[in-house]
Amino acid sequence: MNVDDEDRNTPVEVRAPRGATTTQIEFADGHQGLYPHDLLRGYCPCAQCQGHSGPIRFVPGGDQVLSEIAEVGNYALRLTWGDGHSSGIYSFNYLRRLCACEQCGHGDLTQRTFSR
Ligand SMILES: [Zn+2]
Repeated sequence: MNVDDEDRNTPVEVRAPRGATTTQIEFADGHQGLYPHDLLRGYCPCAQCQGHSGPIRFVPGGDQVLSEIAEVGNYALRLTWGDGHSSGIYSFNYLRRLCACEQCGHGDLTQRTFSR
């Protein structure tokens, strides 16, 4: 199975109740993705957070209140944080790899790296 199958990885429902510290994303194939906001913020893929080279890694700090989720094109979500940071574009494929559910996430989830 191709891990970067965009059809499979398209979110069909995003549940981020106001005040919640975890967002749930249901994908087209039925997978229930789990995203603690500290992980989502730490793995913000933007150049400001990640620099311009190397894999995407966990960067601690930053506001972890998720204030807005917007779809970008048909391939990504843009997340806006309580401190106004909004340059992170999370592709559906990246979100799928970032999933922290029991099935996908093992060990210390802040130690993972992701290719760009
Ligand atoms: Zn960022």
